Amino acid sequence: MSRNRRGLALLVTVALALAGCTADPEPRRESRSTPTPEATPGVTPGPAGVGDPYFPTAGNSGYDVERYTLKVRYDPTSDELRGDATVRATADTDLPLFHLDLAGLTVRRVTVDGTPARHTREGTELVVTPAAPVRAGTAFTVQVGYDGRPEPLRNETIGEGGWLHTADGAVALGQPESASTWFPVNDHPSDKAAYDFEITVPKGLVVVANGVPKGQRPAAGGFTTWRWSEAAPMASYLSTVVIGKYRTSTGEHRGRPVFSAVAASLPRGAADESVARTVAVADYLESVFGPYPFAAYGGVVVDEPRIRYALETQSRPVYSANFFRGGENTGVVAHELAHQWFGDSVSVARWSDIWLNEGLATYAEWLWAEHQGRDTAQAAFEQRYASSDDQVWRVPPGAPGVANLFSDSVYERGGMTVHALRVTVGDDAFFRLLKTWAADKRNGNATTAEFVATAERVCGQQLDDLFAAWLYGTERPAPPTRR
Ligand SMILES: [Zn+2]
Repeated sequence: MSRNRRGLALLVTVALALAGCTADPEPRRESRSTPTPEATPGVTPGPAGVGDPYFPTAGNSGYDVERYTLKVRYDPTSDELRGDATVRATADTDLPLFHLDLAGLTVRRVTVDGTPARHTREGTELVVTPAAPVRAGTAFTVQVGYDGRPEPLRNETIGEGGWLHTADGAVALGQPESASTWFPVNDHPSDKAAYDFEITVPKGLVVVANGVPKGQRPAAGGFTTWRWSEAAPMASYLSTVVIGKYRTSTGEHRGRPVFSAVAASLPRGAADESVARTVAVADYLESVFGPYPFAAYGGVVVDEPRIRYALETQSRPVYSANFFRGGENTGVVAHELAHQWFGDSVSVARWSDIWLNEGLATYAEWLWAEHQGRDTAQAAFEQRYASSDDQVWRVPPGAPGVANLFSDSVYERGGMTVHALRVTVGDDAFFRLLKTWAADKRNGNATTAEFVATAERVCGQQLDDLFAAWLYGTERPAPPTRR
């Protein structure tokens, strides 16, 4: 995610206000001697929640989803959504019942392997009791029919996440959660899956989602069905659907489809030009991080005042138009594309490790600026090291707490941590590490402890004191020096 500076003051206010009424389950701010935090004691994973220390009820346990097939019909004039979701999963354990996350909407029917199943709602949980328990190790298919007017989630996260009804359509977007506002889902990045989308909207509107465009066909009542497919495993918060009046551009790059869209309400210019640089930026990042991880490229620029950020939605980031009001901005494009490697392909296993995403994406912005002949990464580091405020040094990016999940510490100090590592181990080992990390964890999940272990292995030196100071310390570390 990239935060828009213009909206930041408001976001911080909202976050602090929300934090005040939310029990922060992870305020372990003390300096740590070892940067290898394990599962927080006292949180037991249950059917509702995978036991994420920051968001204990997010996601569900007991099964692993392989594929979502989402057939959704949406009429922006009435704001009514009708969905048919097929969830293909494998049981990790015997399941007399299981949970899916679904916020709002009305469930009309649920089947498990074609047989009607009992279903109840408990807050944002859909509890399904199959006619017979699903046995451990078996694959099963859940089908859910539902409808209603989707509502975004207003919860302990920063701002709203989820399905937003816009002037000419809708945007489904948000981190750390958004998916459960429009389909039943295991809503946590630890359960990644493939996605097929069939989105039906009034003729004349454009639908953009993740992955490869699979064409469109007429549907009943003057509607059109747009199909999209993301075959690589995707975390649920990286799914998106954008519906509305957009000018689109399509092409092909290195044998992969390129599909971008810019809100038709925006004047043609900086937004179009910046998103058009997507493949050039991706090619540069490929030279640093290794092969581009997905089967498609693109970007979407939305003109929606409630979206004040950009998000690395898989293979097709979504950008607030605000990023381009001052002219071409490829920095934000570099940030969101870097996440395709770090965040999307290599995903966090729990939200407390968010610096793995944001530190590396921030650092990619510095590398891209240097590549463009602007400030070097060293200069970017020195500027922030000298001028960052107290909050950056007080909040440990490796354990920021929910309220500081998207704080300057996670972004700026996260980026500085990456640079401190580079200075310490030297360029050869550092760039080898980036490619090794992206390759070893491709299409998977990862933790900070695994990153530290990989860094020590690739660089051939003990680095725990460096990470302890930069990720977990509560004061400004000494400037890095080559070992
Ligand atoms: Zn980001």
